[in-house]
Amino acid sequence: MVNTKKLFFTPMDLWPFLPIYLGSHLPIGGGIFRSIKLAKELGATALQIFTKNQRQWRVPELKEDDIERFKKEWINWGNYPIFAHVSYLINLASPKKNILERSIESFVVEINRASSLGIKYIVVHPGSHLGDGEQIGLKRFVDSLDLAIEISRCRDMMILLETTAGQGTNLGHKFSHLAWIIENSRYSELLGVCLDTCHIFAAGYDIKTDTGYKQTFKRFKQQIGINKLKLIHINDSKSELGSKKDRHEHIGLGRIGLMGFMQIVNDMNIFSVPKILETPKGPDLKEDRINMDILIRLIVGKEKYNIINNLKGEYSWI
Ligand SMILES: [Zn+2]
Repeated sequence: MVNTKKLFFTPMDLWPFLPIYLGSHLPIGGGIFRSIKLAKELGATALQIFTKNQRQWRVPELKEDDIERFKKEWINWGNYPIFAHVSYLINLASPKKNILERSIESFVVEINRASSLGIKYIVVHPGSHLGDGEQIGLKRFVDSLDLAIEISRCRDMMILLETTAGQGTNLGHKFSHLAWIIENSRYSELLGVCLDTCHIFAAGYDIKTDTGYKQTFKRFKQQIGINKLKLIHINDSKSELGSKKDRHEHIGLGRIGLMGFMQIVNDMNIFSVPKILETPKGPDLKEDRINMDILIRLIVGKEKYNIINNLKGEYSWI
């Protein structure tokens, strides 16, 4: 008999029919390995974490035991991709000498931490120039980034530069900023991009309309190149197009809306790029389940959704 009980449909359920990498940013409280357990419970097929308390500069080193547990849990989950997001305290474009030094030092620690956990992608914001102007800020960012990579001696990972909303003096709200960083770094081959849908919308890239969406990705291709796009932060935006305000909203409830996300999740050029939710959530992660379910519905459509969901019920006894 067909099981008609309402279940949230997860990316893991979809995997046998259509492999997609979709998940969310999850907490690491109670042990870093716990984030992977949560991802598995959610049925996610991608995960993003902070590898340390992101509000503190200094943290105790990872113990051998923590690392082993993390790697074991990762295999257990199915080896889906994991991304590390660095602390928001880090500003690699800061004009303040002490903050800049601390930022570089802390960034090196984050790179090494991620590397010891086996994480291949590290997401960083391009920093804030704090009044010195975009060009000086970008130059300072590239110098600091290169220095940190040099000191870390890690060459088996990629640093993903995240697009920003352009709040205050934040850099990275134009594709040209990221393109300049990649062109001018000594480690271009180690650099990639994380595109945040909420941020680029707030920065003025209209991904809501059909023509706006096409134009945005045409510009991305021309200025950066789609091969550099390694991660998408899939968030709706509470703020208006071009507002420069970074306020994440649940999928479909914000200014980008369901039609905007319909285009994003069905774009074959970026279909295989992992997508991570950074939307508000409570302790039971219900909101993540709903947001993932909505995105899946937008991909497979109502009819296929019902067929697959019924199959899930049919075979649940196996
Ligand atoms: Zn983001």
